[in-house]
Amino acid sequence: VLILAIESSCDETAASVVKNGRTILSNVISSQIALHTLYGGVVPEIASRKHIEKINQVVEEALAEANVTLDDLDAIGVTYGPGLVGALLVGVAEAKAISYAKKLPLVGVHHIEGHVSANYIEHPDLEPPFMCLIVSGGHTHLVIVKDYGEFEILGRTRDDAAGEAFDKVARAIGLGYPGGPKIDKVSKEGNPDAIVFPKAKLEDPYDFSFSGVKSAVLNHINRCKMQGEEICEADIAASFQKAVVDTLVEKAVKAAKEHHMDKLAIAGGVASNSALRQAMKEACEREHIQFYYPSPIFCTDNAAMIGVAAYYEYKKGVRHGWDLNAVPNLKLGER
Ligand code: ATP
Ligand code: MG
Ligand code: FE
Repeated sequence: VLILAIESSCDETAASVVKNGRTILSNVISSQIALHTLYGGVVPEIASRKHIEKINQVVEEALAEANVTLDDLDAIGVTYGPGLVGALLVGVAEAKAISYAKKLPLVGVHHIEGHVSANYIEHPDLEPPFMCLIVSGGHTHLVIVKDYGEFEILGRTRDDAAGEAFDKVARAIGLGYPGGPKIDKVSKEGNPDAIVFPKAKLEDPYDFSFSGVKSAVLNHINRCKMQGEEICEADIAASFQKAVVDTLVEKAVKAAKEHHMDKLAIAGGVASNSALRQAMKEACEREHIQFYYPSPIFCTDNAAMIGVAAYYEYKKGVRHGWDLNAVPNLKLGER
């Protein structure tokens, strides 16, 4: 089964050809990061316009790299939510046009199901059920992946998403956008024990909250400024990162143990964080849990992960009509 997948939910225009759900024949990503850096974050209107400019070219490249034509395809997969409505609409319209012209089945995919599915690409042995920590720019979910595309949500963030917290703290210490990779990098030169930032205590053991640690960072910076103390960006970054990583590891491993899961995966842009990967690896080794994580290129937004998710939806018989619309607040597990 050959699927062409399209992703345009945020600031990456991406297309990929995926064979039988696990083999990536091409993975083309056109990132708009440089464009949005000027504004310190993604500007939705600019993102939509850029997707329109790039989408045909990206799809053509994905087909050429995979050495296939539209006639070889069995289905079209596309992210239809959640994300920026104008951005999503570009990918959805492209997928519908190809589906209509070539009379190909259309499979709408949940963006976060895509992130989770990124784990299948490099781990042929990984199959549900397993525990998954989803940490991206807009989501922080702890879920049991019961089957392909079937999720039981154990916990979620009460406020900021993990990636959002990285981006906001990076801005506060002057590292710029996008913050996650920059904090990851400068943290390597900092002392993670320099400052003790608070960890949220929540009633529900699997829920998350990152607004407290973010405020603590801001307060720390303001206090330093008022007292005329020097601000060490690397120490702040490393200490913040440690606070977040400790919480993520603690909760994910606790959830895996309590639910008797011997497999734990991470997904989403923050899953490419080197400290998180290292700490999770060590904790899982201690607890005899098999730990899975995608290569960084499959952690952040890409269409290969959408093609993988589309394959399993396709196999289940999921088909969308040519009235498929973008759903900016699509819930995980909804179709
Ligand atoms: P969502 O997937 O929730 O809709 P999104 O698509 O914008 O949101 P992703 O592409 O999955 O998010 O991930 C982007 C986020 O990941 C950003 O917040 C970015 O700062 C963060 N990120 C990327 N690399 C790293 C890293 N090495 N360390 C920490 N955070 C990172
Ligand atoms: Mg992005
Ligand atoms: Fe994403």
